[in-house]
Amino acid sequence: MEVKIIRQRRKTMVLKVFNAQTAELRVPMKMSLSKVEKFLDSKKGWLDKVEKRMLENESFSNCFDFQNFIYINGEKVLEAKSLIKGFENFTEEKKQKVVRKYYLSLFSNLEKLAVEVSVKTGLTFKQLKPCDSSRIWGSYNSNRVMKLNWKLIVLPKRLVYYVICHELCHSIHLNHKPQFWKDVEKLCPDFKMLKKELKNFSFVLRTKF
Ligand SMILES: [Zn+2]
Repeated sequence: MEVKIIRQRRKTMVLKVFNAQTAELRVPMKMSLSKVEKFLDSKKGWLDKVEKRMLENESFSNCFDFQNFIYINGEKVLEAKSLIKGFENFTEEKKQKVVRKYYLSLFSNLEKLAVEVSVKTGLTFKQLKPCDSSRIWGSYNSNRVMKLNWKLIVLPKRLVYYVICHELCHSIHLNHKPQFWKDVEKLCPDFKMLKKELKNFSFVLRTKF
């Protein structure tokens, strides 16, 4: 990974990694080069680890082609062009609109699962809404409104289950304190693994489709 050094009017150094190929180290104007190099040396192990993780993530995300295919529960189920006649000739924007509309029509599947989990666990919500966020998979607020990202439908079911359990546990705790995680663990004993796996899918949130 190449680290670009940028001198700035600042008091401390800050290291930012953008992807597996590029990182940026912002350093105070007058800091000596040896100090900068020493800092970079101390971060080498960490940078290698981040680079490896990002490369894995990139190759993982390359397995998915959201522009041309529809995925349900982690499986490629159909070609996007089969959704509507003339799809191939649409603009990118119109293609995305068609794909998005199709996924939104499947939101009832998420709803069904949320109701099932709610009945099974006794954890309730007042209202369920689809959300469209490039950051989060779901939310639960003090008005007992649960939101689930419609993109969840493309994820393996075990991850959808985890997200629903996570949000439903917010009906007891509106925070992420240890007791919250204890309750999540009761519903999803392997939640730590699922959380990690979900992180690998965060590129889906940022992908436009
Ligand atoms: Zn949460």
